[in-house]
Amino acid sequence: MIGLASKLSAAVGGKSAEALKSAFGMRTVEDLLRHYPRRYPERGQLTELRDLQVGEHVTVMAEIYSAQLIPKKNSSPARLKVVVGDGRDTVEITYFNPRQQIRELKPGARGLFAGKVGRFNKTLQLTQPDYEIDADDSFAGVLVPVYPATAKLASWKIAQTVRIVLDLLDDEVLRADDPVPADLLAGRGLIDLAAALRWIHVPSDLREVHAAQQRLRWDEAFVLQTVLARRRAEVAAMSASPRVRRDGGLLAAFDHRLPFTLTAGQREVSEEIFDDLAASHPMHRLLQGEVGSGKTVVALRAMLAAVDAGGQAALLAPTEVLAQQHHRSISALLGPLAEAGLLTGGELGTRVALLTGSMGAAARKRALLETVSGQAGIVVGTHALLQDRVEFHDLALVIVDEQHRFGVEQRAALAAKSRTGTRPHVLVMTATPIPRTVAMTVFGDLDVSTLRELPAGRSPLVTHVVPAVERPDLFARAWTRIREEVAAGHQAYVVCPRIGDETGEAAPAATTRRSATGRVEADPGSGEDQPAGEEGLRPGLAVLDVFRRLADGPLTGLRLGELHGRLAPADKEDVMRRFALGPGHGEGLDVVVSTTVVEVGVDVPTATVMVVLDADRFGVSQLHQLRGRVGRGSAPGLCLLVTEAPPGSPARERVEAVAATRDGFALSRLDLEQRREGDVLGAAQAGRRSSLRLLEVLRDEDVVVDARLAAIDVVAVDSDLGAHPGLRRAIAALLDDDQAEFLAKA
Ligand code: ADP
Ligand code: MG
Repeated sequence: MIGLASKLSAAVGGKSAEALKSAFGMRTVEDLLRHYPRRYPERGQLTELRDLQVGEHVTVMAEIYSAQLIPKKNSSPARLKVVVGDGRDTVEITYFNPRQQIRELKPGARGLFAGKVGRFNKTLQLTQPDYEIDADDSFAGVLVPVYPATAKLASWKIAQTVRIVLDLLDDEVLRADDPVPADLLAGRGLIDLAAALRWIHVPSDLREVHAAQQRLRWDEAFVLQTVLARRRAEVAAMSASPRVRRDGGLLAAFDHRLPFTLTAGQREVSEEIFDDLAASHPMHRLLQGEVGSGKTVVALRAMLAAVDAGGQAALLAPTEVLAQQHHRSISALLGPLAEAGLLTGGELGTRVALLTGSMGAAARKRALLETVSGQAGIVVGTHALLQDRVEFHDLALVIVDEQHRFGVEQRAALAAKSRTGTRPHVLVMTATPIPRTVAMTVFGDLDVSTLRELPAGRSPLVTHVVPAVERPDLFARAWTRIREEVAAGHQAYVVCPRIGDETGEAAPAATTRRSATGRVEADPGSGEDQPAGEEGLRPGLAVLDVFRRLADGPLTGLRLGELHGRLAPADKEDVMRRFALGPGHGEGLDVVVSTTVVEVGVDVPTATVMVVLDADRFGVSQLHQLRGRVGRGSAPGLCLLVTEAPPGSPARERVEAVAATRDGFALSRLDLEQRREGDVLGAAQAGRRSSLRLLEVLRDEDVVVDARLAAIDVVAVDSDLGAHPGLRRAIAALLDDDQAEFLAKA
């Protein structure tokens, strides 16, 4: 008996199964049935051809206007030139050595053609497209489902296979596989799974399509929310060692040293965290706050409370640059409090260890030792902290900075480092504010705290778009502005979308590249070295080129440094350290030319200008993060977004949107609207197809909220889902093995 979990090869035969697997990675019947049509043109209804984009793989319904055989001549083979159209525009199609085509492609006939769109002499073309002529019996319904297809697997072949599978499936079996309990369906007027799958693939009218989509969209939200509800319930059931804040410890000494007053928000959030830490089940909290809202201090106070209570805290950063900076700034903020065991240290104190993937063996060994012995109360690191060999004496608290680059699995790996039987408290921090529904979908297992205000006395940040093509004068002025700021004792960032120098031919021009010998650890997910982007665009400007051109041109005489993920960590650290020293210092740097490695968290308060080149190559949230690097001190900040995108183009509008507002929530919403949902789920979904096909978390807020409540109810009475086999199966299909393992661990 065929069910959703059956192997495709058992249902459709080895050859089709293999084709589906290599095209889409499908393995099961469910994988195929969850591959929903993208459109439903009416049978015979022609596709508008004028929207076709060169380079796109398309499936179009068109009418054959002419078919002309051009005989074999000398070296060129015989070919059939076919012109198809939609009543207005035409596309040319060529078949070489046509045999079958001569018989089948007759003027007047209509059919589906699938292939890659090209252009020759201003004429749109499809070369050797697959086709299916609309004979009377070739399409099942009036609506023709058009599937996401590939060059090797045409839409109608997928449709045929889907119909074969649907015929094999028994409605009773589907009912048993339905993840949504019947009473929940009935209460909401949703159709059952059997009907939904038949209607979405073989609808007789659009009403059926919509009913099916509505039902299947609800599924997606419900299954995901059930996963999250179970995770939350498991966390609530787990135990953690309570870490109760005490007076007269490091925290108090630190507060006393603090050169500024905490904002009301920082105090409130700290209290929430202290309460969580004192509980006997693990904290799972998300701290979100605008760039510069002072999350680091909140994190540090939490870590000190944990250390005061006898435990250790780990701070996990997404990049080496950021880990190094945290290590530096935490050590500086703590001063003598971080010098336990040293002559300079007082009675009260701890140590701050740094652990990154590419440290020298000796330094690494020392850090590991301080960590396992408990000497280091605070351990700062990159994902190297997740490795098995890293052992803690008593890990009380894990803080994950800039969460959007960490996956759930990594969080779990750190959580597993706690003493047996208990879990550490976990705080994740992000500067990318997340709309409520997304938070519910992605971080549904976390409590949320938000820092809304920026510390007082923050100077304004102004952002301008610099259209390099229309206003070369403004572009030139950008470099003058940098010179002015440096003359005033400030520093500047120049950000580029690429590192460049892939062949290693560029001159090694720099103060900072002298020793690229050490092991180089690329920053994970930093988005450096982006591909050239859309067809026809020149490659983005590269750090290595820009560095040279600026040093020999408009910024000559200034001290420039380069920063990107291909540098050895020690060199990165060195550049950031010297950049922080600034113009007033003999060793300082005035300008750093960098990739997005400076995007998150980098804090140099005297840096006042940032020039982002090819700004349209960056995402909206990324630009918002980037500019958060300037205007952090008392002097006003200036961010110049340089773009060659023409006015009115989507790329240009994106850049203008960033310049127009500093509201991180609005920008993050805009960003999400432009990205696919799979990206929203981030690393949790990396390498997998997104589990969300129909659900759009921004648009479908009411669905998410409703499904969440329903899921909580189900889990409350049946936490292991013993009475819900369909739901259990759906969850297993959603999470592949390592994620299922995470569930068990979380
Ligand atoms: P983010 O939330 O982006 O991580 P940081 O924690 O890096 O922000 O803080 C940004 C800057 O503001 C740092 O230089 C920090 O020392 C400073 N800062 C934090 N809290 C306050 C405060 N209450 N008053 C003044 N400055 C503060
Ligand atoms: Mg930060």
